[in-house]
Amino acid sequence: MRKKIVVGNWKMNKTISEAVELSSAIIDQLGEVSASCEVGIAPAFPALSGVHGVISGTGIHLAAQNCHYEDDGAFTGEVSVRMLDEAGCSYVIVGHSERRQYFGDTNPVVNLKVKKALSAGLNVILCVGETLDEREKGITTEVVTCQVKEGLEGVADIGDIVIAYEPVWAIGTGKTASSLQAQEVHASIRATVAGLYNEPAAAGVRIQYGGSVKPSNAEELFAMPDIDGGLIGGASLNAEDFVAIVKAAEKS
Ligand code: PEP
Repeated sequence: MRKKIVVGNWKMNKTISEAVELSSAIIDQLGEVSASCEVGIAPAFPALSGVHGVISGTGIHLAAQNCHYEDDGAFTGEVSVRMLDEAGCSYVIVGHSERRQYFGDTNPVVNLKVKKALSAGLNVILCVGETLDEREKGITTEVVTCQVKEGLEGVADIGDIVIAYEPVWAIGTGKTASSLQAQEVHASIRATVAGLYNEPAAAGVRIQYGGSVKPSNAEELFAMPDIDGGLIGGASLNAEDFVAIVKAAEKS
């Protein structure tokens, strides 16, 4: 039985004080982190340490939204995995579609980041997903399979990786993939992992869905056999909504 995982991606929202306030509200409303669902939050870099101070000891994971693939050096504006580790992160999101779309994170770059994050002992949330154009052309499986294969190139052990399937057309748009549409892609990702690794690895890897998850659709999505939780953008900026989504995952 795979443990569900719900992570809030706060993107470029919340100042340090606002992030501290939101994380405190999440803790207040969530109560104990249940054994049936891991919970994480991914504030912007400046708020990582402050939020870590608030959530430390609660069981909620601190996640970063991105990392660089070099250890250190002249890379102005970038953040290394050692910095994230020291800030208290246990997860890092890699290959989010906004990074792919606006910041040149191609599959080979994503792969370098995945490997660097794993080498620092961080867990990785590897994001994949097709654009609307790709879905309409009928090449969703092809695109997602390629992102999974190239993202995991040279990764011997998938144990510290969570895959997030996030159809680009559903992110921040209010459009959600239907539970059946999402389930179909999740099953194909699991089959890809079986081919790359083996059946136990495929059975164990957690695949989150992301794309306009809300309290009203979370339960149906999380009830699908291959959907193991969610990567939540907009709805994670509201403590009540985020906690309701976590509760839906705990129940499923
Ligand atoms: C995301 O950015 O990972 C995401 C899923 O955003 P939203 O929930 O706002 O669609």
